[in-house]
Amino acid sequence: MKCIVIGGGMLGAATTYSLALAGADVTVIDAAHPGKATLAGAGIICPWATVRDQPEFYRLYAAGGAYYRRLIAELEAAGCSDTGYRQVGALIMGRDADALESARARLALRLPDAPEAGVLSEKTAAEAQALFPALGPDRPALHLSGGGRVEAATLCAALLARAADLGARRVTGTAGLTLDDAGRPQVTLEGATLPADRVIVAGGAWANEMLAPLGLAQQVRPQKGQIVHLRLAQDVTDWPVILPGTGYYMLTFADRRVVIGATREDDAGFDQRVTAAGNLEVLQAGLEFAPGLAGAEHIRTKVGTRPFTDGMVPMLGAVPGSQGLLIGNGLGAWGLTAGPLGGRLLAQAALGMATDLDLAAYAPTGL
Ligand SMILES: Cc1cc2nc3c(=O)[nH]c(=O)nc-3n(C[C@H](O)[C@H](O)[C@H](O)COP(=O)(O)OP(=O)(O)OC[C@H]3O[C@@H](n4cnc5c(N)ncnc54)[C@H](O)[C@@H]3O)c2cc1C
Repeated sequence: MKCIVIGGGMLGAATTYSLALAGADVTVIDAAHPGKATLAGAGIICPWATVRDQPEFYRLYAAGGAYYRRLIAELEAAGCSDTGYRQVGALIMGRDADALESARARLALRLPDAPEAGVLSEKTAAEAQALFPALGPDRPALHLSGGGRVEAATLCAALLARAADLGARRVTGTAGLTLDDAGRPQVTLEGATLPADRVIVAGGAWANEMLAPLGLAQQVRPQKGQIVHLRLAQDVTDWPVILPGTGYYMLTFADRRVVIGATREDDAGFDQRVTAAGNLEVLQAGLEFAPGLAGAEHIRTKVGTRPFTDGMVPMLGAVPGSQGLLIGNGLGAWGLTAGPLGGRLLAQAALGMATDLDLAAYAPTGL
């Protein structure tokens, strides 16, 4: 079956990989818009600690976390030497003792259904600081051993490289989309029409530009995120992810980088500027929890545009009334976690296979 994936972020790359793995003839087209969310995303993979418990959201998010292990093993078995993923554990905190107790109660409910989340243990403030030395001295925490991090650009590249090995084609450019009278999607690229049996639109926050002319507008709205990268002098490779319970977070990478995220700006549209207020907000939030970062070198602030739906429930699946058009979108602030599984689900739906999760709750609106 001939498939075209529009968008090469985490969701589009994972869809391309899963389609190629299933034997489909697949082409992925990516415009690489500035602000592509995947390239700015922090990379925390620890869905079990989220404060949000809306069932449709949590089901996909947690399943996305569980799928990581399988995906990484699959890529490694295929010869990939760097997937960008590392299980480093997570320290979950609260603003106060009550907030920490709520986190403990939430995890107690969720962990029996999530063996991938690993082992939960209590850490005194001193023990937490031993694991993440930049933390303040008064931050007791819960430690979840299954928490991890991913360098999203590396994982995306690995997915696309494996897909290419399996025969997928990759094109850079801005695709156009129309529907014929029968509801069949047609993709155009630089004046040419590309034939396809299935078209999967994974265009992130920019998808409305393609969907609006089809009467499918306003399904996705952009949320700007500014995220700060610092460098420390010491090795931080195995420091855990920090989830302070404030909406902000910290994580580290092997090149002595500490990442603090992030702003959530709903009214900034597609603005890609690093602002003074954005930097200040994120640095203040980070240094409040980790004063040991005060002397770190500021190496960059990245900006990304998260794709949100109004109800915050992702869209994954076929557009009702169309013949072969599917949409994957709205993965908001959790798409590096849910994106790989989301791509697998989209590929299964596109190929008419049974899906690992029931997609009814994620159906896009129809024509
Ligand atoms: C600051 C920040 C921190 C984050 N941290 C985390 C985190 O820690 N954990 C987590 O799980 N998630 C996180 N996220 C969320 C995650 O990054 C996103 O949900 C995810 O990357 C969305 O992937 P996507 O493929 O849907 O969209 P994108 O990565 O935005 O990719 C969409 C692609 O579609 C292309 N496109 C659009 N229109 C066209 C067209 N007409 N033709 C061709 N190509 C087109 C664009 O150019 C773009 O490359 C974070 C996001 C941000 C911004």
